[in-house]
Amino acid sequence: MSRGIGQVVVVGSLNVDHVWTAASLPHAGQTLSGEYTTSLGGKGFNQAVAARRAGAASTFICALGDDAGGQLARESAITDGIDLRAQRSLRPTGTAGIHVDREGRNCIVIGAGANADLSASFVDGQRAAIAAADILLAQLESPAETILAALRHARHAATTTLLNPAPADAVVDAELLAATDILTPNETEFSALLACHLGQRIHGDAIATLDPETLHGLCRGLLPAGSMIVTLGANGCFVSHASSQLHGDDHGYYRVAANQVDAIDTTGAGDAFNGALAASRAGRREAEFSTHVRFASRYAALSTESRGAAMSMPALQDVLDRFND
Ligand code: AMP
Repeated sequence: MSRGIGQVVVVGSLNVDHVWTAASLPHAGQTLSGEYTTSLGGKGFNQAVAARRAGAASTFICALGDDAGGQLARESAITDGIDLRAQRSLRPTGTAGIHVDREGRNCIVIGAGANADLSASFVDGQRAAIAAADILLAQLESPAETILAALRHARHAATTTLLNPAPADAVVDAELLAATDILTPNETEFSALLACHLGQRIHGDAIATLDPETLHGLCRGLLPAGSMIVTLGANGCFVSHASSQLHGDDHGYYRVAANQVDAIDTTGAGDAFNGALAASRAGRREAEFSTHVRFASRYAALSTESRGAAMSMPALQDVLDRFND
Protein backbone atom coordinates (compact mmCIF):
# COMPACT_ATOMS: atom_id res chain seq x y z
CA MET A 1 0.00 0.00 0.00
CA SER A 2 1.40 3.43 -0.90
CA ARG A 3 2.60 5.70 1.86
CA GLY A 4 1.43 9.26 1.04
CA ILE A 5 2.51 12.47 2.74
CA GLY A 6 -0.23 13.35 5.18
CA GLN A 7 -0.70 16.65 6.96
CA VAL A 8 -0.42 16.63 10.75
CA VAL A 9 -1.04 19.66 12.96
CA VAL A 10 0.32 19.38 16.51
CA VAL A 11 -0.85 21.84 19.18
CA GLY A 12 1.13 21.90 22.39
CA SER A 13 4.16 22.56 24.51
CA LEU A 14 7.83 23.17 23.87
CA ASN A 15 10.44 23.18 26.63
CA VAL A 16 14.16 23.72 26.76
CA ASP A 17 15.34 20.66 28.72
CA HIS A 18 18.27 21.21 31.09
CA VAL A 19 19.59 17.80 32.08
CA TRP A 20 22.06 17.16 34.92
CA THR A 21 23.38 13.61 35.27
CA ALA A 22 25.03 12.71 38.60
CA ALA A 23 25.79 9.58 40.64
CA SER A 24 22.58 10.06 42.65
CA LEU A 25 19.56 12.34 42.72
CA PRO A 26 20.09 15.38 44.98
CA HIS A 27 18.18 15.57 48.24
CA ALA A 28 17.12 18.74 50.08
CA GLY A 29 20.10 20.97 50.83
CA GLN A 30 22.59 18.82 48.90
CA THR A 31 24.95 20.07 46.15
CA LEU A 32 26.26 17.53 43.64
CA SER A 33 28.61 17.71 40.68
CA GLY A 34 27.60 16.10 37.42
CA GLU A 35 27.40 16.36 33.64
CA TYR A 36 25.14 18.94 31.97
CA THR A 37 23.43 18.82 28.59
CA THR A 38 20.59 20.81 27.07
CA SER A 39 18.14 19.98 24.28
CA LEU A 40 14.62 20.81 23.13
CA GLY A 41 11.66 18.85 24.45
CA GLY A 42 8.10 19.28 25.63
CA LYS A 43 5.42 16.79 24.58
CA GLY A 44 4.13 18.99 21.75
CA PHE A 45 7.54 19.54 20.18
CA ASN A 46 8.55 15.88 20.59
CA GLN A 47 5.36 14.78 18.84
CA ALA A 48 5.73 17.35 16.04
CA VAL A 49 9.30 16.12 15.39
CA ALA A 50 8.14 12.48 15.46
CA ALA A 51 5.29 13.18 13.01
CA ARG A 52 7.71 14.93 10.64
CA ARG A 53 10.43 12.29 10.81
CA ALA A 54 7.80 9.55 10.45
CA GLY A 55 6.95 10.99 7.06
CA ALA A 56 4.22 13.63 7.47
CA ALA A 57 4.15 17.35 6.77
CA SER A 58 4.09 18.68 10.33
CA THR A 59 2.74 22.03 11.51
CA PHE A 60 3.42 22.89 15.16
CA ILE A 61 1.29 25.47 17.00
CA CYS A 62 2.90 26.61 20.25
CA ALA A 63 3.93 29.66 22.32
CA LEU A 64 7.54 30.80 22.67
CA GLY A 65 9.34 33.47 24.67
CA ASP A 66 11.42 36.18 23.05
CA ASP A 67 14.65 34.59 24.30
CA ALA A 68 17.45 32.18 23.43
CA GLY A 69 15.15 29.16 23.93
CA GLY A 70 12.60 30.58 21.51
CA GLN A 71 15.33 31.27 18.97
CA LEU A 72 16.69 27.74 19.33
CA ALA A 73 13.17 26.37 18.75
CA ARG A 74 12.77 28.42 15.56
CA GLU A 75 16.12 27.24 14.21
CA SER A 76 15.42 23.64 15.13
CA ALA A 77 11.99 23.73 13.43
CA ILE A 78 13.65 24.97 10.23
CA THR A 79 16.28 22.20 10.41
CA ASP A 80 13.60 19.53 10.84
CA GLY A 81 11.28 21.03 8.20
CA ILE A 82 8.49 21.77 10.68
CA ASP A 83 6.04 24.58 9.87
CA LEU A 84 6.20 26.49 13.17
CA ARG A 85 3.25 28.73 14.14
CA ALA A 86 4.46 30.34 17.37
CA GLN A 87 2.54 32.79 19.52
CA ARG A 88 4.96 35.34 20.99
CA SER A 89 4.86 35.42 24.78
CA LEU A 90 6.33 37.88 27.27
CA ARG A 91 7.15 34.93 29.54
CA PRO A 92 10.29 32.85 29.05
CA THR A 93 10.15 29.82 26.76
CA GLY A 94 9.09 26.73 28.74
CA THR A 95 11.85 24.90 30.61
CA ALA A 96 12.35 21.54 32.28
CA GLY A 97 15.03 20.95 34.93
CA ILE A 98 15.84 17.24 34.84
CA HIS A 99 18.09 15.36 37.25
CA VAL A 100 19.14 11.86 36.22
CA ASP A 101 21.05 9.35 38.35
CA ARG A 102 23.33 6.46 37.34
CA GLU A 103 20.38 4.03 37.19
CA GLY A 104 18.47 6.34 34.83
CA ARG A 105 15.95 7.43 37.49
CA ASN A 106 14.93 11.07 37.17
CA CYS A 107 13.30 14.02 38.95
CA ILE A 108 11.78 16.76 36.80
CA VAL A 109 10.57 20.29 37.52
CA ILE A 110 8.76 22.04 34.65
CA GLY A 111 8.46 25.81 34.31
CA ALA A 112 5.53 26.17 31.88
CA GLY A 113 6.52 29.76 31.00
CA ALA A 114 5.25 30.69 27.54
CA ASN A 115 3.34 27.38 27.22
CA ALA A 116 0.82 28.72 29.75
CA ASP A 117 0.08 31.63 27.40
CA LEU A 118 -0.90 29.61 24.33
CA SER A 119 -4.35 31.08 23.76
CA ALA A 120 -7.57 29.95 22.14
CA SER A 121 -7.58 33.15 20.10
CA PHE A 122 -4.13 32.33 18.65
CA VAL A 123 -5.40 28.86 17.77
CA ASP A 124 -8.49 30.48 16.19
CA GLY A 125 -6.08 32.27 13.86
CA GLN A 126 -4.67 28.88 12.76
CA ARG A 127 -8.08 27.52 11.71
CA ALA A 128 -7.09 27.26 8.04
CA ALA A 129 -4.07 25.07 8.84
CA ILE A 130 -6.19 22.85 11.10
CA ALA A 131 -8.88 22.53 8.41
CA ALA A 132 -6.26 21.62 5.77
CA ALA A 133 -4.76 18.87 7.96
CA ASP A 134 -5.68 15.18 7.96
CA ILE A 135 -5.23 14.91 11.70
CA LEU A 136 -4.82 17.20 14.71
CA LEU A 137 -2.69 15.90 17.59
CA ALA A 138 -2.76 17.55 21.03
CA GLN A 139 -1.63 16.91 24.62
CA LEU A 140 -2.35 18.75 27.87
CA GLU A 141 0.79 20.69 28.78
CA SER A 142 -1.03 23.76 27.38
CA PRO A 143 -4.20 25.46 28.72
CA ALA A 144 -7.19 23.10 28.45
CA GLU A 145 -9.44 25.75 26.87
CA THR A 146 -6.88 26.23 24.09
CA ILE A 147 -6.70 22.51 23.40
CA LEU A 148 -10.50 22.31 23.41
CA ALA A 149 -10.69 25.17 20.88
CA ALA A 150 -8.20 23.36 18.62
CA LEU A 151 -10.11 20.05 18.84
CA ARG A 152 -13.38 21.83 18.04
CA HIS A 153 -11.91 23.60 15.00
CA ALA A 154 -10.68 20.23 13.79
CA ARG A 155 -14.06 18.58 14.35
CA HIS A 156 -15.79 21.40 12.50
CA ALA A 157 -13.48 20.82 9.51
CA ALA A 158 -13.74 16.98 9.63
CA THR A 159 -10.04 16.78 10.58
CA THR A 160 -9.48 13.67 12.78
CA THR A 161 -8.73 14.55 16.43
CA LEU A 162 -6.08 12.62 18.39
CA LEU A 163 -5.68 13.52 22.08
CA ASN A 164 -2.78 12.21 24.14
CA PRO A 165 -4.15 12.95 27.65
CA ALA A 166 -0.74 13.63 29.19
CA PRO A 167 0.56 14.43 31.77
CA ALA A 168 -1.44 12.22 34.13
CA ASP A 169 -2.29 15.05 36.52
CA ALA A 170 -3.94 17.15 33.78
CA VAL A 171 -7.70 17.59 34.09
CA VAL A 172 -9.41 15.86 31.15
CA ASP A 173 -13.00 17.03 31.27
CA ALA A 174 -15.99 15.59 29.46
CA GLU A 175 -15.90 18.31 26.79
CA LEU A 176 -12.34 17.35 25.80
CA LEU A 177 -13.33 13.69 25.58
CA ALA A 178 -16.41 14.55 23.52
CA ALA A 179 -14.22 16.35 20.95
CA THR A 180 -11.76 13.44 20.64
CA ASP A 181 -11.80 10.73 17.95
CA ILE A 182 -8.72 8.82 19.16
CA LEU A 183 -7.52 8.88 22.80
CA THR A 184 -4.06 7.53 23.74
CA PRO A 185 -3.40 7.39 27.51
CA ASN A 186 -0.51 5.45 29.01
CA GLU A 187 -1.20 3.25 32.07
CA THR A 188 -0.93 6.08 34.61
CA GLU A 189 -3.07 8.44 32.55
CA PHE A 190 -5.64 5.69 31.96
CA SER A 191 -5.80 5.03 35.70
CA ALA A 192 -6.39 8.77 36.33
CA LEU A 193 -9.13 8.91 33.66
CA LEU A 194 -10.89 5.88 35.16
CA ALA A 195 -10.87 7.45 38.65
CA CYS A 196 -12.14 10.80 37.38
CA HIS A 197 -14.82 9.68 34.90
CA LEU A 198 -15.90 6.19 35.96
CA GLY A 199 -15.10 6.30 39.70
CA GLN A 200 -12.91 3.18 39.27
CA ARG A 201 -9.71 2.95 41.31
CA ILE A 202 -7.25 0.76 39.39
CA HIS A 203 -3.54 1.39 39.88
CA GLY A 204 -1.55 2.07 36.69
CA ASP A 205 0.67 -0.97 37.33
CA ALA A 206 -2.40 -3.23 37.27
CA ILE A 207 -3.74 -2.05 33.91
CA ALA A 208 -1.58 -4.41 31.81
CA THR A 209 -2.82 -7.40 33.83
CA LEU A 210 -6.55 -6.77 33.21
CA ASP A 211 -8.31 -9.18 30.87
CA PRO A 212 -9.12 -7.77 27.41
CA GLU A 213 -12.92 -7.74 27.86
CA THR A 214 -12.58 -5.70 31.06
CA LEU A 215 -10.15 -3.26 29.44
CA HIS A 216 -12.44 -2.89 26.42
CA GLY A 217 -15.44 -2.20 28.68
CA LEU A 218 -13.49 0.50 30.55
CA CYS A 219 -12.39 2.11 27.27
CA ARG A 220 -15.97 2.10 25.99
CA GLY A 221 -17.11 3.75 29.22
CA LEU A 222 -14.58 6.55 28.74
CA LEU A 223 -14.91 7.18 25.01
CA PRO A 224 -18.16 5.56 23.80
CA ALA A 225 -17.94 6.78 20.19
CA GLY A 226 -14.17 6.88 19.57
CA SER A 227 -11.08 4.69 19.45
CA MET A 228 -8.71 4.24 22.38
CA ILE A 229 -5.14 3.03 22.50
CA VAL A 230 -3.81 2.38 26.00
CA THR A 231 -0.01 2.26 25.75
CA LEU A 232 1.63 -0.23 28.10
CA GLY A 233 5.35 0.52 27.77
CA ALA A 234 7.38 -2.64 27.10
CA ASN A 235 4.06 -4.58 27.19
CA GLY A 236 2.92 -2.92 23.95
CA CYS A 237 -0.57 -1.45 23.76
CA PHE A 238 -4.27 -2.25 23.85
CA VAL A 239 -6.65 -0.98 21.15
CA SER A 240 -10.40 -0.58 21.62
CA HIS A 241 -12.92 0.62 19.01
CA ALA A 242 -16.56 1.71 19.29
CA SER A 243 -19.11 -0.80 18.00
CA SER A 244 -20.13 1.71 15.30
CA GLN A 245 -16.60 1.40 13.84
CA LEU A 246 -16.67 -2.39 13.52
CA HIS A 247 -17.13 -4.62 10.49
CA GLY A 248 -18.13 -8.29 10.31
CA ASP A 249 -17.26 -10.41 13.35
CA ASP A 250 -14.58 -8.03 14.65
CA HIS A 251 -14.52 -7.97 18.50
CA GLY A 252 -13.45 -4.35 18.54
CA TYR A 253 -10.35 -4.84 20.68
CA TYR A 254 -6.89 -6.35 20.41
CA ARG A 255 -3.42 -6.19 21.89
CA VAL A 256 -0.31 -5.20 19.91
CA ALA A 257 2.96 -6.53 21.38
CA ALA A 258 5.97 -4.24 21.72
CA ASN A 259 8.82 -4.80 19.27
CA GLN A 260 12.00 -6.36 20.62
CA VAL A 261 14.71 -3.70 20.81
CA ASP A 262 17.71 -2.85 22.99
CA ALA A 263 15.96 -0.06 24.89
CA ILE A 264 18.38 2.30 26.65
CA ASP A 265 16.09 5.31 27.24
CA THR A 266 12.29 5.20 27.07
CA THR A 267 11.92 8.99 27.59
CA GLY A 268 9.63 10.24 24.86
CA ALA A 269 8.51 6.75 23.72
CA GLY A 270 4.88 7.83 24.17
CA ASP A 271 5.54 10.99 22.14
CA ALA A 272 7.20 8.91 19.41
CA PHE A 273 4.17 6.61 19.38
CA ASN A 274 1.67 9.49 19.08
CA GLY A 275 3.59 11.40 16.40
CA ALA A 276 4.08 8.27 14.30
CA LEU A 277 0.46 7.19 14.72
CA ALA A 278 -0.68 10.61 13.49
CA ALA A 279 1.74 10.55 10.53
CA SER A 280 0.71 7.04 9.49
CA ARG A 281 -2.99 7.76 9.79
CA ALA A 282 -2.63 11.06 7.90
CA GLY A 283 -0.66 9.46 5.05
CA ARG A 284 -2.73 6.29 4.59
CA ARG A 285 -6.31 7.02 5.59
CA GLU A 286 -7.55 3.96 3.72
CA ALA A 287 -5.34 1.54 5.68
CA GLU A 288 -6.63 -0.57 8.59
CA PHE A 289 -6.29 1.13 11.98
CA SER A 290 -4.08 -1.76 13.16
CA THR A 291 -1.55 -0.88 10.42
CA HIS A 292 -1.10 2.54 11.99
CA VAL A 293 -0.80 1.08 15.49
CA ARG A 294 1.86 -1.41 14.38
CA PHE A 295 3.82 1.33 12.65
CA ALA A 296 3.59 3.57 15.74
CA SER A 297 4.78 0.66 17.92
CA ARG A 298 7.81 0.07 15.70
CA TYR A 299 8.62 3.74 15.54
CA ALA A 300 8.34 4.13 19.35
CA ALA A 301 10.41 0.99 19.96
CA LEU A 302 13.24 2.27 17.78
CA SER A 303 13.16 5.65 19.55
CA THR A 304 14.11 3.88 22.80
CA GLU A 305 17.46 2.78 21.34
CA SER A 306 18.84 6.35 21.55
CA ARG A 307 18.94 8.79 24.42
CA GLY A 308 16.80 11.92 24.70
CA ALA A 309 13.32 12.85 23.56
CA ALA A 310 12.93 14.96 20.40
CA MET A 311 16.46 14.15 19.23
CA SER A 312 15.88 10.38 19.59
CA MET A 313 13.02 10.36 17.07
CA PRO A 314 14.10 8.03 14.25
CA ALA A 315 13.87 8.73 10.52
CA LEU A 316 11.18 6.85 8.58
CA GLN A 317 13.78 4.97 6.51
CA ASP A 318 15.49 3.66 9.67
CA VAL A 319 12.17 2.21 10.87
CA LEU A 320 11.41 0.63 7.49
CA ASP A 321 14.94 -0.85 7.26
CA ARG A 322 14.89 -2.18 10.80
CA PHE A 323 11.48 -3.85 10.70
CA ASN A 324 11.28 -4.70 6.95
CA ASP A 325 7.92 -2.93 6.62
P1 AMP B 1 4.64 4.19 27.00
O1 AMP B 1 4.33 5.65 26.83
O2 AMP B 1 5.75 3.91 27.96
O3 AMP B 1 3.42 3.38 27.28
O4 AMP B 1 5.22 3.70 25.58
C1 AMP B 1 4.57 3.99 24.36
C2 AMP B 1 4.86 2.90 23.36
O5 AMP B 1 6.28 2.83 23.12
C3 AMP B 1 4.47 1.50 23.81
O6 AMP B 1 3.10 1.23 23.54
C4 AMP B 1 5.42 0.64 22.99
O7 AMP B 1 4.90 0.47 21.67
C5 AMP B 1 6.68 1.50 22.89
N1 AMP B 1 7.67 1.15 23.96
C6 AMP B 1 7.84 1.73 25.16
N2 AMP B 1 8.82 1.12 25.88
C7 AMP B 1 9.30 0.12 25.07
C8 AMP B 1 10.32 -0.87 25.20
N3 AMP B 1 11.06 -0.99 26.33
N4 AMP B 1 10.52 -1.73 24.16
C9 AMP B 1 9.80 -1.63 23.03
N5 AMP B 1 8.82 -0.71 22.84
C10 AMP B 1 8.55 0.16 23.84
